[in-house]
Amino acid sequence: MKLKSLITGVIGVAILAAAPLYTSNPYYIHMIGTIMIYAILLFGLDIVVGYTGQVSLGHAGLFGVGSYTAGVFFLKLGAPLWVIVPASIGVTAGFGALLALPALRVTGPYLAMVTLAFGTIIQILINEMDFLTEGPLGIKIPKPSIAGVQLDEHGFYWTVLALMVISLVVVDRILKSQLGRAFEALRGSPVASDCMGVSVYRYKVYAFVISAGFAGLAGCLYSYSEQYISPNTYNFELTVLFLLAVIMGGRKSRVGSLLGAAIIVILPKLLDDLEMFRTVASTLAVLMAVGGAIAVARKMTTPKALILPVVGTIALAGFSFWLQSITDWRLSIFGLMILFVVYYLQDGIVGFVRNLFVRKGSRAGQAVVLSGGAHKDAIMNASSTGVGEDLLIANGVLMQFGGLKAINNVDIRVKRGTIHGLIGPNGSGKSTMMNVLTGIYVPTAGAIEFAGRSVVGRTSSDIALSGIARTFQNVQLFGEMTALQNVQVGLHHTFNSNIVDVSLHTPRYTREEAASVERGLGLIDFVGLADLANEEARNLPYGKQRLLEIARALALDPQLLLLDEPAAGLTAPDIKELISIIRKIRDHGITVILIEHHMDVVMGVCDNVSVLDFGQKIAEGKPADVQADEKVIEAYLGGTAA
Ligand code: ADP
Ligand code: MG
Repeated sequence: MKLKSLITGVIGVAILAAAPLYTSNPYYIHMIGTIMIYAILLFGLDIVVGYTGQVSLGHAGLFGVGSYTAGVFFLKLGAPLWVIVPASIGVTAGFGALLALPALRVTGPYLAMVTLAFGTIIQILINEMDFLTEGPLGIKIPKPSIAGVQLDEHGFYWTVLALMVISLVVVDRILKSQLGRAFEALRGSPVASDCMGVSVYRYKVYAFVISAGFAGLAGCLYSYSEQYISPNTYNFELTVLFLLAVIMGGRKSRVGSLLGAAIIVILPKLLDDLEMFRTVASTLAVLMAVGGAIAVARKMTTPKALILPVVGTIALAGFSFWLQSITDWRLSIFGLMILFVVYYLQDGIVGFVRNLFVRKGSRAGQAVVLSGGAHKDAIMNASSTGVGEDLLIANGVLMQFGGLKAINNVDIRVKRGTIHGLIGPNGSGKSTMMNVLTGIYVPTAGAIEFAGRSVVGRTSSDIALSGIARTFQNVQLFGEMTALQNVQVGLHHTFNSNIVDVSLHTPRYTREEAASVERGLGLIDFVGLADLANEEARNLPYGKQRLLEIARALALDPQLLLLDEPAAGLTAPDIKELISIIRKIRDHGITVILIEHHMDVVMGVCDNVSVLDFGQKIAEGKPADVQADEKVIEAYLGGTAA
């Protein structure tokens, strides 16, 4: 698999490198060069859009910052290429941080608006700061020289190609490392990400800054490529075009970025040339019809779902022959294409082709080899000292939502090395208690001390890293990631390698990555999912998803593990397996708080039990005593079924 893509890559690069040799037309060389420059930006933008799932309308602005850093450094300092390239990357990454730090505190439409405003401000600044940027007049920049040799069109083309390939490799390595997993995880489930010690905010900012760095490189190359820059280029349309390219090409794919870049460079030219437009529209219609037929034959979709897109593309082809002049229709055709992408190509072209030819679930084929029997140390021994001491002390905890006291003045003490049950009717405040313990909610009043330190007011990721791991009542896995990758997110804290290690694959990174695969597989084996390590989490049966969540939580090397109704939805044999897993976890010295509805589970494994009802603690003690307690019986009979 890896070898195949390497060979494809080498052939691709060879063809691109040879391009100047078989066409002497500078128009095409310049066009391919521009596609590669845009591709560099799109590799970066895909990190933000495809992986972390944030929308940025500020990337044309960042592209402009990169261009103008190059322009100003050349104009004012006469700096050479080897200074200008790192300067553009650095300055743009800095602007990216400046934008990301405040902007990524908000999401959705707010984020879109903040980034949009940023793009606009950049354009205005470039226009107004003419002492630096020459304002609307723009800046002229000649092609650079390398080691004293002035580059011609071809020399520059090869330089861009080399930088594009380097960018591709670096982005690919980042995305396959613990950083990429963090980016993907925060999209899959922000709350789980935070509770695995991967701070959502920090990694969103990180992704944005890396992405800005690539926008800076692209912008810098663009100045040299055009040899003239002016503020008008970096407008709103360009930003929309970039987004369209990522989505149309296919998110989470480098091939998709290249394809997207080609589309946004070629499309506007295409819409200038009627003959060409007719040819492409006809080809598209034929491809769509044939592709649709294959899809229907393979039962991947129904004829009904395909009618509209097929008819649509055929109509577009027909329309192209009816047209006399294309100029008036440019924008409308453009708009139609955007609509088409939004409705029918949500996974982009790469995603569409992948769906067509790759059968679902075939990822399990590329299995990581299980190194047999080497997983004994998958669970790190939590410090076994001080068994019997209080690990967690909650005093007078109050959690109020408006008028509702979801937790009302509750005290709980959990002894190290025990399994502590937390039970009560539905809505009695059990999950809320867990959310308070893991920093998702800050309690209205009360004190919580864990291993001698207060947790109140600390962030979820900080609390997680200090040793509290958890699962969720409504499963919170990273759906598009494999089971192994899910657990590896839990192992994020075992990585010390930085972005340089990751990009260069230094021994430190290779060692840490290998260790995390090894331990990840060990943990997956521990919960009995060894066969499913390479299956995407969303494809696992519900019961297995719950077990995978436990494996992921254990990856944090917690001292305290919170399980929120782990047996819900499990079959009887699975529950038996679960009980033995929970016991084994305790035997490793990990303290457990168990929320559970199944009384047999609670009675079978818990050392102590606290009972909540309407947010108040109504009983506490040994399981058998609690079960016989009158108040408890009344609460369960009075409330809805246990
Ligand atoms: P349990 O897990 O014991 O079934 P919960 O802790 O989920 O109960 O809920 C306790 C009470 O707090 C319920 O009445 C629930 O509606 C309320 N509650 C929980 N979270 C919130 C929230 N974020 N906002 C408002 N009310 C909440
Ligand atoms: Mg609950």
